[in-house]
Amino acid sequence: MPTLANHLSGFTESVIRMMTRIAQQTQAVNLAQGFPDFDPPAELIAAAHRALDGDYHQYAITWGAKNFRDALANKISNCTKLECDPDRHLVVTCGSTEAMLASMLSVCNPGDKVIVFSPFYENYGADAILSGAKPIFVHLEPPDWHFDRDELRQAFAQGVKAIVLCNPSNPTGRVFTRSELEYILQLAEEYDAFVITDEVYEHIVYVPHKHTYLSSLPGATARVIMCGSLSKTYSITGWRLGWVFARPEVIDGVRKVHDFLTVGAAAPLQQAAVTALELPDSYYAELQKAYTAKRSIFLDYLRRAGLKFTEPEGAYYVLIDISALGFAHDQQCAEWMCRSVGVAGVPGSSFFPEPRFDQLRFHFAKRESTLHAAGERLLELRHKI
Ligand code: GLN
Repeated sequence: MPTLANHLSGFTESVIRMMTRIAQQTQAVNLAQGFPDFDPPAELIAAAHRALDGDYHQYAITWGAKNFRDALANKISNCTKLECDPDRHLVVTCGSTEAMLASMLSVCNPGDKVIVFSPFYENYGADAILSGAKPIFVHLEPPDWHFDRDELRQAFAQGVKAIVLCNPSNPTGRVFTRSELEYILQLAEEYDAFVITDEVYEHIVYVPHKHTYLSSLPGATARVIMCGSLSKTYSITGWRLGWVFARPEVIDGVRKVHDFLTVGAAAPLQQAAVTALELPDSYYAELQKAYTAKRSIFLDYLRRAGLKFTEPEGAYYVLIDISALGFAHDQQCAEWMCRSVGVAGVPGSSFFPEPRFDQLRFHFAKRESTLHAAGERLLELRHKI
């Protein structure tokens, strides 16, 4: 029998997406896979109808339709205060998922080392392996999920090609400070490495925390490859629209990889999403307000249920400490939580490289009514803790 590629044994099926399937089977409230259960802005849905009635049924330009890139470049330069030339600095991808993989495939040679902060969003480990690179994990220390500067320096000193940074961070909710970002950039300069950022939660940040774009730090554009997405900002995770923003020589490489991976993102959805990118500043203020309210509702239930956690500073995830619930393995706890409590989360072990089974991740990108329904069920845990 022919055998499958060796690199497949380096990672498992996505646990996040597996938990979505278990949530469906058990009819648990799905707080596992991070996606909203509310609609995107109405004007965006109307724009999608118009796009389907228009002449957008064939491939767009492989690196992104011109008017989509124009609108995206405008938004990126408004946010980062950097020059973003739609013809030289951008590739439009199928979500940040493809943006991250295409970036890694563009910079890594077999055997290269790539730093990944741990806990980490599960795709980064697989991205490194598929690119032939070896992930080097640097710990984020609870309760506030900071990194140790010496540990990070030692990791760089092993001779790394790139560091992956998710900011605001999934699953920890950490928003890295300007000083931390300056230190990361300083090390990347000293050891001549790329910094590949995943900034899909750029607009989901809680007061008083602020998102700093690493690429906007002085001198950063030479080595920062910024990946982003429309998924979370406009509540359209299924549209699969993302991008890579980097200097032209890097973009030339990423465009080649992207072209052979997917040819391009969905043409009619790129047309429709121009409407999203042109929304006024008030849209982002409202988004932040809505997520602040969701966070407050959900965390209040967790507190009342007696669960321990660190309040997220950004993104829409919270890692909870499940050690008091008495399970040997977090997967057992996650399945019990679906079947007996009726709420689905993701076992924390899928975010850690070392065996660690005391965390479960919930997300709160849901309608307030869904969060109340999940919260009421979680209150049952008071009797178990
Ligand atoms: N980013 C989301 C999460 O961490 C969705 C993951 C996915 O399935 N692509 O849950």
